[in-house]
Amino acid sequence: MRDVLKNILFALVIFMVLVSLFSGANTFFDKENVISLSDLALKAKSGEIKTALISGDKIELTLSDESKVFAYKEASGSLLESLKNLGVNDNDIKKINIQVKTEGGLAYFLINILPIVLPFLLIILFFYFMFRQAKGGQMQAFNFGASKAKLFDANKEKITFKNVAGAEEAKEELKEVVEFLKSPGKFLSMGAKIPRGVILIGSPGTGKTLLARAVAGEANVPFFHISGSEFVEMFVGVGASRVRDLFNNAKKHSPSIVFIDEIDAVGRHRGAGMGGGHDEREQTLNQILVEMDGFERDTNVIVIAATNRPDILDPALLRPGRFDRRVIIDEPDIKNREEILKIHSEGKPLSADVVLRKIAERTPGFSGADLANLMNEGAIAAARKNQKEITQTELTESIEKVMMGPARRSKVYSAKEKEIVAFHEAGHALVAASLSNADAVHKISIVSRGRAGGYTLKLPTEEINFYSKNKFIDELATLLGGYAAEKTVFGDVTTGPHSDLKTASDLARRIVTEYGMSEKMGPMTFGEREKLVFLGKEMGENRNYSESVATKIDEEVSSFIDKAYKTAMKIVKEKRNALNKIASVLIEKETIEQTEFEELMKSMRASGSVA
Ligand code: ADP
Ligand code: MG
Ligand code: ZN
Repeated sequence: MRDVLKNILFALVIFMVLVSLFSGANTFFDKENVISLSDLALKAKSGEIKTALISGDKIELTLSDESKVFAYKEASGSLLESLKNLGVNDNDIKKINIQVKTEGGLAYFLINILPIVLPFLLIILFFYFMFRQAKGGQMQAFNFGASKAKLFDANKEKITFKNVAGAEEAKEELKEVVEFLKSPGKFLSMGAKIPRGVILIGSPGTGKTLLARAVAGEANVPFFHISGSEFVEMFVGVGASRVRDLFNNAKKHSPSIVFIDEIDAVGRHRGAGMGGGHDEREQTLNQILVEMDGFERDTNVIVIAATNRPDILDPALLRPGRFDRRVIIDEPDIKNREEILKIHSEGKPLSADVVLRKIAERTPGFSGADLANLMNEGAIAAARKNQKEITQTELTESIEKVMMGPARRSKVYSAKEKEIVAFHEAGHALVAASLSNADAVHKISIVSRGRAGGYTLKLPTEEINFYSKNKFIDELATLLGGYAAEKTVFGDVTTGPHSDLKTASDLARRIVTEYGMSEKMGPMTFGEREKLVFLGKEMGENRNYSESVATKIDEEVSSFIDKAYKTAMKIVKEKRNALNKIASVLIEKETIEQTEFEELMKSMRASGSVA
């Protein structure tokens, strides 16, 4: 459209120039020597005029002194009549050599024909450009279905696992994928199925895209890359045909990798948007599922997808045979941050005073992308100061710059917040470790992940099919451990435990109403969960009990919570030394793995600080 406007404007300007040139030509060049008709009559009477050259209504007069003047007559009527009317007698007129010039040639054409023809020309031109534009659009529409997938040239900028710092667990999982791609025969001969889909889950900037490219680089196979947001375009049905095209291409180049970045853009829970209207996305998603299901057993194409919103993904995507492998990429802890900084300082001259560990210490909550950005800002600052090397000063200053910068999306802590989160998570871990029925602590981290400040990952030591009441009670206490620790240490609580409290309340209510584990209420269930089939989600609860029973339920729920809170408080207060120790280790290292945690607890038990 902009092109059309430009063309019209251009044509208009030309038109105006032409018009002003040719209409103005009459008056423009010879303004000063124009005389009136009555002057002309006077001059005729006195015999001053030698010749008169008439062209149109313009008269070019040559006077007796050979000078030239111009005059205009009325458009209709001849010069002779005009002169006669002005009282010039026939004799005087005869003395004048009157010539009439008929206009012709180019000038005639331009002046008389052009003003008539030009508008038509303009209109034709206008339609021509419109047409061309539309045709172009149509051609584009025809090409739309073709996938925009980009094939990364592996030789251009080869990325391997060496370029990705940290994310050890993710790398370990992906190494397996690389092996599948490199020597599928080994697995096929054992009757194993090749995994089809791997989904990378992690906050923005944690290196999901980077890891996917590293897999391609390691396996040395073609890498087809497309972003979910690119699917969501103008015409319905295009997304689906693009997916088909993408997979066809990948199969042709097999073994290969299809990488669907930001899959949440198309992979949203279907039907979740009430009122419909997301046909396009649904069709695209369906096509992805159809393609993945259609893989032959030996199709050596692995689909890697990335998202930072696993919570909104359609469950169909995560079914076996599709994206059944999940790789979670954590935000980097202090050690990994240092490594990422090291990777991105490659090719940048650092002065001897630079201590990357110090920068890592001051950047909790920074993602890999933030750290890459930080190093770059440092380099720019040093260059602007005309330095030969980047010093610690520039790097320290860049921390703030990146923190304030518009591109940052992940959360950054202050030192105080870090301390609070550390004690909070230490509280969960300590309570869990102190109760015999709670799950074992698998990992504690104070690096922000999603909404929660930090997290304590607990996994049952053995597979559990039935949950006992005692287990639930210990679970409740563990959930409240964070809250209890904050309250004990700081005498105040933050919004941090918000989701813990909600989980705890929900669990307590289920213990009473669903599992019939409350002594007071007896072995009975209360309320019927209503499922709205088309949404596949629980929409509400049908109350099938009286108001007084409801009050009793509420009392029971709060008594469960209350007991759990007391248990948590007791543990936290009695083992305050242990709490402090765990928190201080967390502040220093930011993550504690299971073995480390167990050793820490063992050494504290030995020294008598934990019973
Ligand atoms: P995501 O796809 O998770 O949003 P990207 O993979 O696009 O993040 O990461 C953006 C940039 O951040 C990368 O190109 C890289 O420079 C840097 N980066 C992120 N994580 C790491 C890491 N673990 N090691 C090295 N660089 C990283
Ligand atoms: Mg990405
Ligand atoms: Zn918590």
